[in-house]
Amino acid sequence: ALTIGIVGLPNVGKSTLFNALTKNTVLAANYPFATIEPNIGVVELPDERLTRLAEIFGSAKILPATVSFVDIAGIVKGASEGEGLGNQFLANIREADAIAQVVRGFSDSDVVHVDGKVDPASDMETINTELILADLQTLEKAVPRLEKEVRGKKADPAVLAAAVEAQSILNAGTTLSQAGFDVAPIKELGLLTAKPQLFVFNVDEAVLSDEVKKAELAALVAPAKAVFLDAQVESELIDLDQDEALELLQSLGQEESGLDQLARIGFDTLGLQTYLTAGPKESRAWTIRKGWTAPQAAGVIHTDFERGFIKAEVVSFADLDQYGSMAEAKAAGRVRIEGKDYVMADGDVVEFRFNV
Ligand code: GDP
Repeated sequence: ALTIGIVGLPNVGKSTLFNALTKNTVLAANYPFATIEPNIGVVELPDERLTRLAEIFGSAKILPATVSFVDIAGIVKGASEGEGLGNQFLANIREADAIAQVVRGFSDSDVVHVDGKVDPASDMETINTELILADLQTLEKAVPRLEKEVRGKKADPAVLAAAVEAQSILNAGTTLSQAGFDVAPIKELGLLTAKPQLFVFNVDEAVLSDEVKKAELAALVAPAKAVFLDAQVESELIDLDQDEALELLQSLGQEESGLDQLARIGFDTLGLQTYLTAGPKESRAWTIRKGWTAPQAAGVIHTDFERGFIKAEVVSFADLDQYGSMAEAKAAGRVRIEGKDYVMADGDVVEFRFNV
């Protein structure tokens, strides 16, 4: 499964957030694939459509998609030079598919800030600088090697050109994801700043409903997405029952918990989407990459489904919701038969036909 690495300077609230995430972790009984390791939190992707599907189909159970987070401790200034847990940190981040950067926005004078003041822009710069320096080190070794290989006709000149371009972007102090750089030709270098990023601002309660302040912070990271939460509130929410949690959220002017927002935006940042299946046994969301075709999507349920794919019976959730049953949606001509070239849309409710 794809994972999101949680990074951030010391004392920004990473552990507080991660503890809440792991307490919110899915039951291994429902998700046998989710081997739970201490530094991995697997949370459900909230999806109200499943509740409605379960109602329509009389499903015994609901299985949402999941999002996996890895706690990556140890970034400090100098990490790219192996300071602190530097090397281990970089290795862990290399394995993650996206990066969630936790940024301190809360102003508690009892909690020491590593740089002496609460300054989100400067904190993000510290982290990005370490990631940029690490990538520059990688490229410093890779470019001469590629030059040699190109001379010996063992490497594509386009690969070398991409590496050199990446170097100049990074030398200008910009991350590759900020620059919208197409990393495909040099994917095997595993450059850290090419990974999609999202930002988690850990703020005081009052900021949660302060749209002006939030817009200001979001602008610092755009076009990357920002999540606003109070890690301490999240750790309280996790111990409340549903009604109490709703009440606390409402009192803070929130419709959704920070953890739910983080799951939703994290999933999107990973380039993932879901399609839905429903029946008396279960209503379920399946995870695919954006742009996948019907046979690829079927393969997520079972590899045989991809190999033996014949066709897919597809209805959009919106139509099914409106008509209230498969039979009614069919009668209204809203159920389509799609072939092997069909590109899945978010919210498709699907039944696959296949040979085994
Ligand atoms: P980490 O070093 O990034 O993992 O940070 P921790 O999660 O250990 O948090 C450092 C300190 O800040 C702890 O004493 C937390 O209780 C406190 N803390 C974390 N989140 C918040 C927050 O949202 N508001 C306040 N006031 N304190 C927080």
